[in-house]
Amino acid sequence: MAKKIEKVNDGNRLVADGYNKIETWNNETIKEIASMYYRILKLIGEDPEREGLEKTPVRVAKALNYLTMGYNHNPCEIINSAKFKEDYKQMVIVKDIDLYSMCEHHMLPFYGKAHVAYIPNDYITGLSKIARVVEAFSRRLQVQERLTMQIRDCLQDCLNPLGVAVVIEAQHMCMQIRGVQKQNSVTTTSAFTGIFLEKLNTREEFIHLIGTKLH
Ligand SMILES: [Zn+2]
Repeated sequence: MAKKIEKVNDGNRLVADGYNKIETWNNETIKEIASMYYRILKLIGEDPEREGLEKTPVRVAKALNYLTMGYNHNPCEIINSAKFKEDYKQMVIVKDIDLYSMCEHHMLPFYGKAHVAYIPNDYITGLSKIARVVEAFSRRLQVQERLTMQIRDCLQDCLNPLGVAVVIEAQHMCMQIRGVQKQNSVTTTSAFTGIFLEKLNTREEFIHLIGTKLH
């Protein structure tokens, strides 16, 4: 797989062919975050100069940059970049969207699936755009509850559909590897607007179609 690094304004961009991995970073910011991780390595009793750790601060800084790249994306712009007039008024569901986010309390990952549905009202959007909206909001420091509502509100505001439904099922590393150590617990959150709130059978149809149990 070909990888290349391009110069952009005040940083670099890594472009990898074959899949959609595009990273942009600011050299000054990476340098500063890396210097702090160098210090953290010392504080936890490590030797940041030893061979295996030599490049770790920069790697971690870039990883953190990647995991929080959602701050640079405008979810409404993503929707508007593929918004089409269409006279379709049935439920559109995109289910099992892979989701990786980071809890804002511990900065540890939470990950799982998002299921998103809407019922158009004159406008539809590209299906991949819905997955990209999920990504734009999840690549930030989050709590699952807010993430669920932000995805819902973005679709409602940008597409003005008859209703939006969002369900997220996720496992939180902060629960799995520390604290209560509940290894297999899954947290489910949901958020609805319009017809999904008003009509029980529409909501039930959605829940049936995504094949999940709401706790
Ligand atoms: Zn947490």
